[in-house]
Amino acid sequence: MKNTNRNILFAALLGLLLGILIKNFPDSSFYGPFMALIELLGQLFIKALKMILVPLVFFSIVVGISNLGNAKKADRIWKLTLSYYFLTMAIAVILALFVMNFVKPGVGINLDLWELENDIVSQTMSFGDFFTQFILSLFVNPFASLASGNILPIIIFAIFIGIAFNGASKKMAMGRELFESFYEVMLKIVEWIMIVAPIGIFALLLKLVESQSLELFNKMGIFIGTVIGIILIHGLIILPLINYFFTRINLKELWTKGRPALITAFATSSSSATLAMTLNVANKDFKVKKTVSNFVLPLGATINMDGTALYEAAAALFIANLVGLDLTVSQQMILFFVAMVASIGAPGIPSAGMVTMAMVLQVLGLPLEALAILLPMDRLLDTFRTTVNVEGDLIGSLIVNKLT
Ligand code: ASP
Repeated sequence: MKNTNRNILFAALLGLLLGILIKNFPDSSFYGPFMALIELLGQLFIKALKMILVPLVFFSIVVGISNLGNAKKADRIWKLTLSYYFLTMAIAVILALFVMNFVKPGVGINLDLWELENDIVSQTMSFGDFFTQFILSLFVNPFASLASGNILPIIIFAIFIGIAFNGASKKMAMGRELFESFYEVMLKIVEWIMIVAPIGIFALLLKLVESQSLELFNKMGIFIGTVIGIILIHGLIILPLINYFFTRINLKELWTKGRPALITAFATSSSSATLAMTLNVANKDFKVKKTVSNFVLPLGATINMDGTALYEAAAALFIANLVGLDLTVSQQMILFFVAMVASIGAPGIPSAGMVTMAMVLQVLGLPLEALAILLPMDRLLDTFRTTVNVEGDLIGSLIVNKLT
C-alpha cells in the first residue's frame, strides 16, 4: 500500500509536468498516437472504477449496516453522519457567499463578451418539483437501479437489507455471510485496481493539463481564482480544523494517508468513481471501523458535496453580477438552501453540478443561457470541487469513527 500511495503521487506529478511539456509540442508526429493512448489509459481506469462502483456500494452498505449490532449504535451513526454532512455543506455555502460578496467577480463586465450559445438545453425544474422528484427517486426497483447504476436507490435498498439482517434468524445468517464474502471479493478487486491506479492517474492528469485553454483564464481568471480560493480555504483550513478538533489527525497525516483518494478525485472528477479508493484508505490506512466507513462513505459520495455546494452558490452570484442583478439578503438565503439541495441531488459524476445548476439559476430568476458561460471552465473547476467533496467524505468517516 505504501508503494502504491507513493506511486500515485509520483504519477500525478509526472502527468502534470508532461502535460505542460506536450502542450508546447502539439505539432510533433508522435503527438496524435500518444494522446490517443493516453486517452485510452485514462478511460480504462475510470471504467474499472465504475465497474466496481455499484457492487461495492451495495455490498459495503449491506455489510456495514448488518454489523451494527444494536439499534442504538445505528441511530448514533445516522445522526452524526447526517449532522456532519449538513453542517459542513452549510459552512461551505456560507463561506462562498461571504467571499463572493466581498470579491464580486463579474461586476461591470459586459455580458456580450461571452457570445452566449443557445444550444444549452437544460431541464428546467422548480424547487418544489425538484424536491418531490428527489424523494420519489429514492424508492426504485432495486434490480433496475443496480443495472443502471442509480446509486441513491441502491443505498436505500441496501440499508433495508442491512437492517433486516440485523435481527438475523438462523435462516438469514447464511445470507449475511454470503454478502460478507462477496464484499471481501469486491475489496480484492479494488486492491487490483489500486495497483494500476498510477497509470490511470498519470494519463488523466496529462490529458487534463493538455486540454486546458489559457484563453479561458483571460476571460474568467478572477472567477476561476475566486472559486479555487474558496475551495482551498474550505479544504485546507476549515475541514482540516474540524477534523483535528474531533480526531487529532492533522493535515499532514490526512494528506499523506488520504492522497490516493484525493488525487483520484482530482483526476477523475467523480466522487463515486473515487469511492473504491476512499474506502480503501479509510479502512486500511486510517483504520476506520467497517460499520462506519461502509455506511458513511458511499452515502457521502452521493449526497455530501461541500465543493459542489460552494461552487453552485458562487456561480449563481457570478452570473447575477454579470447580468447586473444585485441579489438581496433574502434571495441569498434562498440561494443558501437551493445550493445545498442542488449539491445533495447531484450524483457523484463529472459535471453533475452543472445539471443541478440549472435549477439554482431558475429559482433565482437568472438566465439559463448562463450555463454556456460556466461550461467551458467546468472540467477544471470540477477537479477542485470533487477533491474537496471526497475530502469531506473521508473526514466524515474519521469523525464518526472517533465518536462512535
Ligand atoms: N463531479 C462532482 C463529484 O463527483 C460533482 C459535481 O460537482 O459536478 O463529486
